Amino acid sequence: MNPTASPTIFEPARQVPVVRETDVLVCGGGPAGIAAAFTAARAGAKVLLLERHPFLGGVWTAGALTILIDTEHKDGLNCEIRRRLEERGAAVYCKQWPNWPVYGLEAMKTLLDEMIIETGIEVQLYTSVAAVAREGRRVTGVYTESKSGREFIKAKVVIDTTGDGDVAAQAGCAFEYGRPKDGKVQPMTLYGRIGGYTGETVHIQPLLDIARRAGVEPSYGDVTLFPQPGQPGVFMLMATHLYGSGIDVRNLTRAEIQGRAEIRQLVELYRQHAGPAWKDVYLMDTGPFLGIRESRRIRGHHYLTVEELQSNKKFDDGICHVRFMADIHHPDPKEGTGLTHVFFPFYDIPFGCLVARDVDNLMMAGRCISGDHIAFASYRVTGDAVATGEAVGVAAAMCVEQSVDPNALNRPQLLQRLARMRSTEIAAPEPPPTTAPEPAPRKKTTVARKSLSLTP
Ligand SMILES: Cc1cc2nc3c(=O)[nH]c(=O)nc-3n(C[C@H](O)[C@H](O)[C@H](O)COP(=O)(O)OP(=O)(O)OC[C@H]3O[C@@H](n4cnc5c(N)ncnc54)[C@H](O)[C@@H]3O)c2cc1C
Repeated sequence: MNPTASPTIFEPARQVPVVRETDVLVCGGGPAGIAAAFTAARAGAKVLLLERHPFLGGVWTAGALTILIDTEHKDGLNCEIRRRLEERGAAVYCKQWPNWPVYGLEAMKTLLDEMIIETGIEVQLYTSVAAVAREGRRVTGVYTESKSGREFIKAKVVIDTTGDGDVAAQAGCAFEYGRPKDGKVQPMTLYGRIGGYTGETVHIQPLLDIARRAGVEPSYGDVTLFPQPGQPGVFMLMATHLYGSGIDVRNLTRAEIQGRAEIRQLVELYRQHAGPAWKDVYLMDTGPFLGIRESRRIRGHHYLTVEELQSNKKFDDGICHVRFMADIHHPDPKEGTGLTHVFFPFYDIPFGCLVARDVDNLMMAGRCISGDHIAFASYRVTGDAVATGEAVGVAAAMCVEQSVDPNALNRPQLLQRLARMRSTEIAAPEPPPTTAPEPAPRKKTTVARKSLSLTP
């Protein structure tokens, strides 16, 4: 059903309680949102983080993706999360992806809970942002829906880390959706978790071939298994491509049910036909939620294009260094069940991509920042979501200190402060600087560009 063509009904106006007031309001607790919230708090700001799920992590936990890409050359929070997972035996490195940690889902949830307490941010789980209040070119706060009913939260600076750009779209910001030729987006994926597997990590061809020999064509051609650290025999199975919109509730419903059916069928097929390592395999669970790869891309002050990346364009206000290629899962199954890679030189995302063009006190981080369909397919991975989150976190704290909007911030000062925060892994709030800070010496990490075959 097309909602814009539906009949409409008048919803009566009502009184809504203003339950909280904060300096920095972060909407969405995925990799970008947690980075924004933790960093803004560590920079000294009063922060509230809203998340619709009962736990933080976004696709890291709710989407069950289990591997951290484009983090290996980054310091700051990317480095801190990697290190803390490694220290508790919750991150392992497989021979296929020697630089990308595969982590335990429950360990990630636990770590993020610990970091909430350490940073002292306020978090409200089970809370969806339903609407936005706007006065002129400013957002004054958001309306939330939860078991407590409809409520209002006031904020000075708002950060949209919903992945889908829900807040910016509600605020009336311009956005793009899908690829230019037909508006189609990369497919979604539902993961399955299996137990009882006695083989090694398996990637792509063997599992595809086995399914085909049994007369089944998986909707995702590059079938992959990711181990769960510390849980022998437990693996995440990535085997589905579920097409259509991730911001259409009827399509999400259809895709969930189709995804679960397909995973059940594949696990049974592998148990019967894939040999001794599979003979005791069972499906532990699916989900918890569909992983949505692509939805709204909110228009910012800068719009990053594939042409800029291919021509190796340099930016003065780069806040996130990206080394991952564009990795485009085919938006239409007629184009095949795999993906296309587009390569370009390593690049930096300019801060302007994170600042909403149409609302003055709104920033974005993670997959909903401003860029085209192909550029997005590169910076969408979680190492870059975290790094963009850090940048808006520092920027938001500076906006509050200086009573200015993000686009008016002194960008060299922002870059210096960001570099300083990234070079120190700190758990305590950092006092605001009295003068422009000197960046501390940074750890040098060098990583050679890999020949990539992973298909997240
Ligand atoms: C199936 C799949 C596999 C992937 N594989 C990999 C991989 O192996 N490695 C990698 O690094 N990257 C991978 N990616 C990409 C990566 O996971 C995402 O691009 C990344 O999570 C983006 O981070 P984000 O914080 O912007 O968005 P998300 O992770 O989507 O987080 C958004 C958060 O906002 C919350 N939210 C949404 N709307 C609202 C609302 N209205 N109110 C309140 N809260 C809201 C959501 O619940 C969620 O917690 C994969 C993506 C998918 C979908």
